[in-house]
Amino acid sequence: MSTDTEELTPTTVDEFVEPGGSTLQAVGISAWFGNHKVLQRVSLTMSAGGVTALIGPSGCGKSTFLRILNRMHELVPSASLAGEVLLDGRDIYEQGRRITETRRRIGMVFQKPNPFPAMSIADNVTAGLKLTGAKASRSAKLDLVEQCLTKAGLWKEVRDRLRQPGGALSGGQQQRLCIARSLAVRPDVLLMDEPCSALDPTSTRRIEETIAELRAEVTIVIVTHNMQQAARVSQQCAFFLAEDGAPGEIVEAGPTEVMFANPVDPRTEDYVNGRF
Ligand code: ADP
Ligand code: MG
Repeated sequence: MSTDTEELTPTTVDEFVEPGGSTLQAVGISAWFGNHKVLQRVSLTMSAGGVTALIGPSGCGKSTFLRILNRMHELVPSASLAGEVLLDGRDIYEQGRRITETRRRIGMVFQKPNPFPAMSIADNVTAGLKLTGAKASRSAKLDLVEQCLTKAGLWKEVRDRLRQPGGALSGGQQQRLCIARSLAVRPDVLLMDEPCSALDPTSTRRIEETIAELRAEVTIVIVTHNMQQAARVSQQCAFFLAEDGAPGEIVEAGPTEVMFANPVDPRTEDYVNGRF
């Protein structure tokens, strides 16, 4: 059992995670799979220290947009795109820019939790360090494991079973383990694609709490079909729509309060009120 005293003990958190986050800016993004255009001139600024929620019906290009934000789109052979993605003002698609560094700085959490099932909980957390080439001592790694699991709201549940396989955890715990794994490489931005869609309400609430806490240090972009969730966790919202087979576009983006209470576009109003 943990005690309050333990919870208050300072850790070496700052050694690994510097506060801040980065501003991510999509400028005029269009995207294709072969000849099929799926996004049309999407521009959106996702500010440091904020949570941006991407909402909109299935198939309007939210996941594609998210994958463009960390250069995963180009993993699909038929995929192409136009436009720029600026991370703190510099295009991540600029020639000569290292893709591994971009992916380290811009982490991703998927709908279906995907920890390495046979790997221990602790090793799952530190798995990404290999990619960064960072050398860490055993004790520094242990500190990192504790720190990242704490941030992901999982530490108390797993502190006595760090050597057990990640696959032995519940779905909600696995998702928090994936969040901890993302945090271990000190990302500036965390992209989350429907991170709670496969989870029960209690796990969902835990993840929302985690998002609220992470906001101070990581810029978060979350795709969600849950309007209450978008309203609870985000400060900014962007509504995507692909009308009648046209490519997906942002119909409206702005402060979450405005999007829900006083949207400009009638299509936004219909969508956030469940009329679609
Ligand atoms: P959302 O996440 O909003 O549901 P997606 O980004 O997954 O939307 O999909 C947008 C469009 O791109 C859809 O028409 C989908 O069929 C198409 N699409 C997504 N991924 C691929 C792919 N790998 N190859 C071809 N088409 C794809
Ligand atoms: Mg999707």
